Amino acid sequence: MSAANIETIVSLSKRRGFVYPASDIYGGLGSSWDYGPLGVELANNIKKSWWSWVVYERDDVEGLDSSIVLNRNVWKYSGHETTFSDPLVDCRDCKARLRQDKLDTDANGKFVCSNCGSTNLTDPRPFNLMFRTTIGAVSADDDPTALAYLRPETAQGIFINFKNVLDTSRRKLPFGIAQIGKAFRNEVTPGNFIFRTREFEQMEIEYFVNPPDAGRAHQEWIDGFHSWINSIGISDANLKDYEQTKEELAHYSERTVDILYRFFPERDDEAKQFDELMGIANRTDYDLRVHSKKPEDAEGKRINPDSTEDLSYFDTATNERFYPYIIEPSIGVNRTLLAVMMDAYTEKTNDKGETRVILKLKPEMAPIKVAVLPLAKNKPEIVEMAKRLKKDLQPSMRAVYDDTGGIGKLYARQDEIGTPFCVTVDHESLEDNAVTVRDRDTWEQERISVETLKDHLQRSL
Ligand code: ATP
Repeated sequence: MSAANIETIVSLSKRRGFVYPASDIYGGLGSSWDYGPLGVELANNIKKSWWSWVVYERDDVEGLDSSIVLNRNVWKYSGHETTFSDPLVDCRDCKARLRQDKLDTDANGKFVCSNCGSTNLTDPRPFNLMFRTTIGAVSADDDPTALAYLRPETAQGIFINFKNVLDTSRRKLPFGIAQIGKAFRNEVTPGNFIFRTREFEQMEIEYFVNPPDAGRAHQEWIDGFHSWINSIGISDANLKDYEQTKEELAHYSERTVDILYRFFPERDDEAKQFDELMGIANRTDYDLRVHSKKPEDAEGKRINPDSTEDLSYFDTATNERFYPYIIEPSIGVNRTLLAVMMDAYTEKTNDKGETRVILKLKPEMAPIKVAVLPLAKNKPEIVEMAKRLKKDLQPSMRAVYDDTGGIGKLYARQDEIGTPFCVTVDHESLEDNAVTVRDRDTWEQERISVETLKDHLQRSL
């Protein structure tokens, strides 16, 4: 069970420099956040772990980094211009603007305002979530020939590069393309810290398969992601699968399973404690068909007269040409970071009866792996030795030197940000060339000789 709620993480994040409210000195900008010195390291560690698992450890996935602003036709034929919207309602009583699909209903099935409890709401109308911009030196801001969008997902950049990657990497099905990048959605109701924001980062895989293999591949990715999510420190007790119903499925999806995390442990109703961490969809052959020049509708008209390519695949073993099915595991960096912090958060009472926060991050996730601390900062030989040790360790692991407080305070600070080990240089170190290594989780200390320190830490990490 998760011990922390989002509020606990918000205050830890602000206090210790993981995440700050964006544009704060100008009053902020609704639901925007900046990642501080520790937050950027944690986010990078999450991305590194995902990339390494997906691209390096498998032999069937290539990486990609596509543009954020794409030709408008991408969003026309993907369906985003017409269907990428949320049902927007206004509360006539408190004037709140809300997403109808996120509201509870009363006993009569009427939607209830989440702000004031009224059922006096307007009818829903679709609100398109794509941020609009214009390209080039246009004369009018609403010039339709200059209209472009900030991408609301990284996926489309992958679909339109399918043939490029296929031809240049000489891949055969099944294979995937992975991408990490920013996405933008003009969300109606952003909130809950970094859970839902208008600017966020996604890690997406589009895995191309022979249609008969899609069901099996889909389940393999669902199982695979459970293992990866566990591997970065999130326990199964706080995870749940959710099978989208026929009514909830996107029009192109045959099956979508969301992996939910217990983001709201404080809620009484256990079912409401969980919300989406990621989605894994079987998107059928929809995407490659709609971006291809050849497919026709029932009346024999090309569904995409603007595309110059056919994104079908020729199977040399069977001499068949077809549009591959796509399995899409899509996960947000920001939601993952929040879940990793929530799952790692623990409190422990010391022998003075004081409560201490320990962020029990997996070493792979920890922003700092080791902090080297001088026991006496007024003794130049100790300071010099500590700084030298930090320099020696740094090429192998992220290490910091800190002398800005008494040793108890320094330990507490490192515990709170999840640093697995503290190395203390004391008076004896000058004599015996050994240091004290303190474990974050057990607070146990052992004496290690400087010659074996790096090996010892590397093994333990
Ligand atoms: P939700 O309904 O929770 O807004 P979604 O179902 O629209 O999410 P997808 O389109 O499936 O989300 O996006 C894939 C993943 O990208 C999500 O599971 C989530 O991790 C992340 N994500 C999507 N929208 C946001 C957002 N506004 N802020 C932060 N992360 C997001």
